[in-house]
Amino acid sequence: MRKKAIELLMAVLLLVGAFFLSKEGAELVSKELSQDAKVIVVDAGHGGIDPGVIGIGGLKEKDINLQIAKKVKKKLEKEGYTIVMTRTKDEGLYDENTNNKKVQDMQNRCNLIKEKKPVMTISIHQNSYPDASVCGPQVFYFTHSVEGAKLGKSIQDQLNTYLEVARPRVEKGNSTYYLLKKSEGILTIVECGFLTNPDEAAKLQTKEYQDKVAEAVCQGVLEYLGNE
Ligand SMILES: [Zn+2]
Repeated sequence: MRKKAIELLMAVLLLVGAFFLSKEGAELVSKELSQDAKVIVVDAGHGGIDPGVIGIGGLKEKDINLQIAKKVKKKLEKEGYTIVMTRTKDEGLYDENTNNKKVQDMQNRCNLIKEKKPVMTISIHQNSYPDASVCGPQVFYFTHSVEGAKLGKSIQDQLNTYLEVARPRVEKGNSTYYLLKKSEGILTIVECGFLTNPDEAAKLQTKEYQDKVAEAVCQGVLEYLGNE
C-alpha cells in the first residue's frame, strides 16, 4: 500500500517536471528561431462582439486597447522591429457563423502567435474593479515563464516611472488567463489602467496619456531585449 503511494507520488512529480521543462524548452526554441526576424506580436485585446471592460460612461475597453496597441506598433517599428497586430480595427478573430466566437477568437490569437514565432507578444488590456478608487498599471506574465517574468518586470517598471504611479505595483504571475496559459513563447498582458476609476478612465482617452503608456511599453521591451 505504502509503496503504491510512493510510486504514484513519483509519477506525479515526473509529470510536473516534464511540464516545466517543455515550457522552458519551447521558450528557448522560439527565441532562437525568431532572433533574426525581430518580429513582435502586438495584441489589442477583445474587439467585435466582445467589448471587454465597460468603464465609466460606457467607455469600451476594446477601443482603448486598439488605440494604445497602434501607438506601441509605431514606436517599436521605429526601433526596427516588425510588428504583427492581431487586429487593426474593431473586429474579433472569429467567423460570423461560428457557435462560440469568444473561444475561436482566443484560439486564433494563439494560432497567429504560433505561426509568426515572435520574440515576444505584448497583449494590451484595460482593468476594472468594483472599488472605483483602484487605479494604476498592472503587468501579468505566465507564472512558470522565467523570461515572461523578466519582460513583465521591465514593462511594469517603465510604466510605474513614465506614468508617475503614486503606489507602484510589481508585475504579477498568473496561470489562469487563456493567452498566458495557451500561447507559445514569451507573452505579457499589460493592463494599462482601470476604466472604472474616473481619473484614469479620462486620462486613458487622451492621446498624450496613451502616448506615455505606449512609450513605457516600448522602453520596457527594449530594456528586456538589451539585457536578456
Ligand atoms: Zn481585457
